[in-house]
Amino acid sequence: MALSKDALIQLIALQKEDGELDKIKAGLDKIPVMIANLKKAVEEEKAKGAGAKNKVVELEKKKKEKELEMAKHEEEARKHASQLNSVKTNDSYKALQNEIGFAKQHVSDIETEILQLMDQLDAAKKEDKAVQAELGVEIKKFEAEIAGHEKRLAEQQASFDAAKAKRDAGAAPLPADVMRVYNHVRSRGKLDAIVPIDGTICSACRISLAPTVIVEATKLKALVTCESCQRILYRPEVLAPAKTA
Ligand SMILES: [Zn+2]
Repeated sequence: MALSKDALIQLIALQKEDGELDKIKAGLDKIPVMIANLKKAVEEEKAKGAGAKNKVVELEKKKKEKELEMAKHEEEARKHASQLNSVKTNDSYKALQNEIGFAKQHVSDIETEILQLMDQLDAAKKEDKAVQAELGVEIKKFEAEIAGHEKRLAEQQASFDAAKAKRDAGAAPLPADVMRVYNHVRSRGKLDAIVPIDGTICSACRISLAPTVIVEATKLKALVTCESCQRILYRPEVLAPAKTA
C-alpha cells in the first residue's frame, strides 16, 4: 500500500488501537506487582506466626532445664540423707544436715521458678493459638486475593493478545516506511505519533508549519512530518470526505 488517504486513515485507527493496548498493558503490568506484594505479606504473616511459636518452644526448653536442675538437687538431698546413718561424728552429721537443707532449699526455689514458667507457658500457648488462628484467616484472605489477581492476569493477557493480533493484522498492509516513522516516534514516548494539522500549526507541539508542509499534506503523495517534534502530520479537512466514501 502506497501512502494514500486510506493509509493515513488506517494509521489514525491504528494509533487509537495502540492507545487502547497501552492502557491494557499498563493495567496488566501492575498485576504481577500486586501478586508479589501479597506473597510478601503472606511470608510476613508466617514469620509472625513463627515468632509466637518460638516463644512457646523457648519457655518449654527453659522449663526442661529447670526440671533437670531440680532433679539434681533432689538427688543430692537423697544421697546426703542416706549417708546420715553412716557418719561417725556429730560435726559430720550436722554438716550433712546442712547440705541436705541447702539442697532442699534449692529444690524449693526451683519449684517456684518452674511454677512461674508454667504460668508463662500457658499464656504463651494461648497467645500462640490466637495468633495462629488469626494468621490462618489473614493468609487465606491473601491467598484468595492472589488467586483472584492470577485469574485476572490470565484473562487480561488473553484479551491483550487478541487485541494485539487484531492490531497487527490492521497494521500489516500499511507501508513499511510509514510504520517505521510511526514506531520510531512512539518509541520516543510520543504516543500520539500521528496528529492533525491545526490550521497551519502542528497540533502537538504548536509550531508554525512551513506552507510547503501544508501543501505536501494536502497532496497526500508522501509522508509529512513535523520538523520540530517529528510526528506524522495530516490535514483533517483532507481526510474527512473519505469517511463517507
Ligand atoms: Zn510538532
